[in-house]
Amino acid sequence: MQIPKSPTAGRAPIQRSGVRWLLLSLATAVLVACATGPVQQRTETAAQAHDNYNAVLWFQSAAEYHAAMLGIYADAGEALVQAMADPHFSAALEQPLPQPGLRPAVVVDVDETILDNSPYQARLLLDGGSFEETSWRAWCEERQAKAIPGALSFARHAAKHGVEIFYVSNRDVSLNQATIDNLAALGFPNADQRHVLLRDRAKGWGDKGPRRVEISKTHQILLLIGDNLGDFSDDYKGSPEQRLALVEKHRNWWGERWFLLPNPMYGSWEQSLLDYHYADDEASQRQRKRGGLRLSR
Ligand SMILES: [Mg+2]
Repeated sequence: MQIPKSPTAGRAPIQRSGVRWLLLSLATAVLVACATGPVQQRTETAAQAHDNYNAVLWFQSAAEYHAAMLGIYADAGEALVQAMADPHFSAALEQPLPQPGLRPAVVVDVDETILDNSPYQARLLLDGGSFEETSWRAWCEERQAKAIPGALSFARHAAKHGVEIFYVSNRDVSLNQATIDNLAALGFPNADQRHVLLRDRAKGWGDKGPRRVEISKTHQILLLIGDNLGDFSDDYKGSPEQRLALVEKHRNWWGERWFLLPNPMYGSWEQSLLDYHYADDEASQRQRKRGGLRLSR
C-alpha cells in the first residue's frame, strides 16, 4: 500500500527526524484503518436505512408520544362516564340500538392499544428483518409486552364503574393463552377466555365486526379504542382517500365513542399506500410509498 505524498511537498524542507515521524504516523494510520475497516463495515451494515427508525424511536422514546397517549386515555375515561348515562348509546356500528338491560362494555384492540410491542419492532430494525409470523409468535409467547401509557389506568377506571373490557385482537387464536397471561401479569381486568377474542377463522372471525356482533348480544358497547381503522369499522380496506372518507363519515364519533391511538410503525394505513401488496420486495414497496407523497395539499 503506497504512502500518500506529503501535502507539504515543494515547500520548505522538513528535518529528517520530522520526516521519519510523519512516515511512521502515516503508516500507523494506514494499519489502524486496515484493522478497523471490517468493524466500520459491520456498523454501517447494522445501521442501514430502514423505513421504521423514526417511527419506532418516536413510539419508544418521545415524551410527546407518551403525553398523547395519556391525554387520549384520559379523554376516553371521561367519555365512558357520559356514555354510561345513555341507555341508547352504542359505539358499535353493528349495534345501532342497544337492547334494554345489557351490561356495559368497552371494546379495545390489544397490540399498540393496550400492549406495547415496539421491542419487537426494534428487534426487526437491529436484525434487518421484517415482520413475519414466526418471529412475531416468538415475541408474543415471551409475554413481555408492557402496557401502553394510560391504558392500565383507563382499564381500572372502567372496572371501577362496572364496565367490562373485551380485548378484540387480530392476533391468531393460538396466541390466546400467551395474550391472557401477558394482560393478567400487567394487572388488566377481564384478562380471561371470555373477554379475549382473537382472530379465529373457524368462527368466521377475520375482521372485527362479527366479534362486535357477538358482544352486542349481551353488552352495550360504550366505546371502541384502537390504533387501526379496522378496530372501528370493517370497511377500512380502501384507498387512502376512501379511508379518509370513512373517517369523515363518522366525524362526530371520534373523541366521543371512538378513540384512536397513533401508531406510525405499521397498520392498514401503510397497507393502503402499498395497494395491499404487502409481499412485494422492499424496493417496490418504497416506490409505491413515494407515489403517496404529496407536494401540495
Ligand atoms: Mg393494534
